[in-house]
Amino acid sequence: MTIFDTPDAETCGTILTIDLGALVANWRSLGERAGTEASAVVKANAYGLGLEPAVTALAAAGCESFFVAHLSEGVRARAVAPRAAIYVLNGLLPGSAGRYAEHDLSPVLGSSEELQEWAAFRASGAAVRPAALHLDTAMNRLGIWPGEGMSLMRALKADIDAAGIGLVMSHFASSEDENDPANARQIAAFSEIAAAFPGIPASLKNSSGHFLKDCPSYQLTRPGYALYGGNPTPGLANPMRPVIALTSRILQLRDVEAGMQVGYNGRWTTKRKSRLATICLGYADGYPRNASWTDTSTGGSAIAGGVVCPFVGTVSMDLIIVDVTEAPAAQAKRGDPVTLIGGPLDLETVGAGAKTIGYEILTSLGRRHARRYLGL
Ligand SMILES: *Cc1c(COP(=O)(O)O)cnc(C)c1O
Repeated sequence: MTIFDTPDAETCGTILTIDLGALVANWRSLGERAGTEASAVVKANAYGLGLEPAVTALAAAGCESFFVAHLSEGVRARAVAPRAAIYVLNGLLPGSAGRYAEHDLSPVLGSSEELQEWAAFRASGAAVRPAALHLDTAMNRLGIWPGEGMSLMRALKADIDAAGIGLVMSHFASSEDENDPANARQIAAFSEIAAAFPGIPASLKNSSGHFLKDCPSYQLTRPGYALYGGNPTPGLANPMRPVIALTSRILQLRDVEAGMQVGYNGRWTTKRKSRLATICLGYADGYPRNASWTDTSTGGSAIAGGVVCPFVGTVSMDLIIVDVTEAPAAQAKRGDPVTLIGGPLDLETVGAGAKTIGYEILTSLGRRHARRYLGL
């Protein structure tokens, strides 16, 4: 039991186990693969795993830089990592510079307005850490579009100098698909950018970027998903260690005839005599309702007694019905555990079953699960 465990882990039906040892091992292996310093992207509550335990474990292992999306997440990270560099990807909302100084955080500046606002704040004498500068090389989302021949960068040179930039970065749009020609274009565009900022550390790789051929690591990488056990090379074997497991328990079982309707609006009809188990988690726990298995669409699954069993009917708020006909009856009794994430039900499989991606499964992980942290 660690200070981050929820107190009712033994009696709660659904348990989320988070292996912080595996998280740290994944962070180390990505740094080794890159041959440079790896930061940790811990936005969205460390992709749903819990920001404080993740940052505590990674900082103890030697991680010196973290990325979050929101200022409020930066404040939480600062509380458990007093010395680390903490970059806030969403950058400066108007008037927020003072809060950055107060919590010793670094904004990731993504427009000339943000550059100028931060430069003016620094000029007022505020003691701040170096900021990062975000260049957009593909996405039209956040960051400055460097433009043909870097003319814009030259035009902004004075503001960039005044803003005290300690890191230049860009973000891949499709690095999980090594055949996407956008990767090579972004790699080339970023090499020009890095060359334009001699002496300033640069950062390009997200998780999947670590596995792209012909991509320099520069001075810092920014993995997120792969730290948490997501597969950065979809379609190939997952090189990362699994970090989370989600189990729930069987509340009730019933045997039903063929032709019976199941769940809200009767959207699934049993095709045979079936044994159905109702388990205690649902969409209120972050398991997407899009994982419903109906007469016209496939959905998610759970492992009961070692057998992968399909959901049947709609995913309810607090409950899911699973067809356990194929599971050994002795291991699919009232109270027995079922696995929702773990083993063959990896994050990619669970994501596909819910018509989404593993990232969304992770970041939606519920607040109602008992959480058990291993390796602290
Ligand atoms: C989320 C994010 C990352 C991490 O991406 P993963 O694919 O999860 O590794 C890195 N950089 C930026 C700018 C991001 O927004």
